[in-house]
Amino acid sequence: LRRNPGEAEFHQAAREVFESLGPVLSRHPEYAEASILERMCEPERQIIFRVPWTDDQGRVQINRGFRVEFNSALGPYKGGLRFHPSVYLGTIKFLGFEQVFKNALTGMPIGGGKGGSDFDPKGKSTGEVMRFCQSFMTELYRHLGEHTDVPAGDIGVGGREIGYLFGQYKRITNRYESGVITGKGVGWGGSLVRPEATGYGAVYFADEMLKTRGESFEGKRVLVSGSGNVAIYAIQKVHQLGGTVVACSDSSGVVFDDGGIDLDLLQEVKEVRRGRLSAYAEARGNASDYRTGATIWSLTSTTRVDVALPCATQNELNEADAKVLTENGLLAVAEGANMPSTPEAARLFSEAGVLFGPGKAANAGGVATSALEMQQNASRDSWSFEHTEARLQEIMVGIHEDCATTAEEYGAPGNYVLGANIDGFTRVANAMLALGVI
Ligand code: NDP
Repeated sequence: LRRNPGEAEFHQAAREVFESLGPVLSRHPEYAEASILERMCEPERQIIFRVPWTDDQGRVQINRGFRVEFNSALGPYKGGLRFHPSVYLGTIKFLGFEQVFKNALTGMPIGGGKGGSDFDPKGKSTGEVMRFCQSFMTELYRHLGEHTDVPAGDIGVGGREIGYLFGQYKRITNRYESGVITGKGVGWGGSLVRPEATGYGAVYFADEMLKTRGESFEGKRVLVSGSGNVAIYAIQKVHQLGGTVVACSDSSGVVFDDGGIDLDLLQEVKEVRRGRLSAYAEARGNASDYRTGATIWSLTSTTRVDVALPCATQNELNEADAKVLTENGLLAVAEGANMPSTPEAARLFSEAGVLFGPGKAANAGGVATSALEMQQNASRDSWSFEHTEARLQEIMVGIHEDCATTAEEYGAPGNYVLGANIDGFTRVANAMLALGVI
């Protein structure tokens, strides 16, 4: 704590992993002897930089850019960029720390990193977003490379932003290095299924958890927080598997749609018009119920919910929300977002016997498919939707299996938090031991 003052989210993420590691450290004293934990908490490199850009009125604006290259024991740093006004070093370090273990769980050769900026894309014109992205990459490019550090999207960074970032990288380096960034558009190096991957993956993970209780999504009522990239494709997969998503949200409000969210309309509003959820509610008229200023979890007492998929942001679901959800018979939670449940909420779910898939396992489908994009780039190939989705599903089933097996091996069957933390940690720790003190 003293080395990283004021970085509350980073402390929270590190504490959550360390709380699981007692049994593995007793079995493997070599990890403590080599100071693996201390080394894992110290990023290999942290880059903070000025991002100057000009707005549409000709005024110079300044934002702060970050890239935290956390751990490269398993491969090049890999992790997304977040553009949101709340971003500071503690956000990026928490996300980067989580990413190290998540990437290890995918079984693919990728290390962990994360980056972003306190730039707020809301209300900015396309020209402003492009100029910001170009300025951001003008500094960041020198730290990137397909064998060094490979960013992707996150909150506020989608296909449009990835395009501007990649375009500037290409222009500065004079290299068409497709594998330097993922989340690219299909047609210029992107992979089919990448936009869907995190949401689909979280639903596959939830489905695997449900199967352990002889359940499935068929006929289940589901809440999905957020209405961005992860949320939209989580909704799509739930509907494909026979469940009904009855509500979703954004930072301004919640929409309840008892007959099921109209996904075509939601995609039209969010992906084509770049509008707010209020515009969806307006278009739905009486079919839906829109509540301004509410959070989705605070409204759950009035409706039955079988599965909760938090897909918005960190610490969005607190203990009081968890209490109401469990009292109403919640079966499962799979975290599409990173660390959306507070530690108290996560504990409560576990004590109440709710199936709980932590983000570093449940949302690993996004980065896994990014690694598949890198594979396609390296082999100058592009795979079909069916093939890529089958790979994604296979990876998610594998992560579920590995977390479940590890939890059982350590005497805590069904504890996916413990399983994910120990399995991810062990993979990284073993590589670090093999590579020596570096
Ligand atoms: P988007 O920017 O596409 O969407 C984010 C959604 O969450 C929006 O609906 C946004 O609402 C809402 N949201 C963001 N911040 C808040 C807040 N403080 N309070 C309430 N709602 C909020 O991002 P993604 O869908 O890509 O990411 C969502 C989560 O998933 C993040 O935690 C991210 O780290 C995680 N994740 C994403 C991956 C990916 O592949 N994209 C991979 C793995 C994890 P509004 O528009 O009002 O801000």
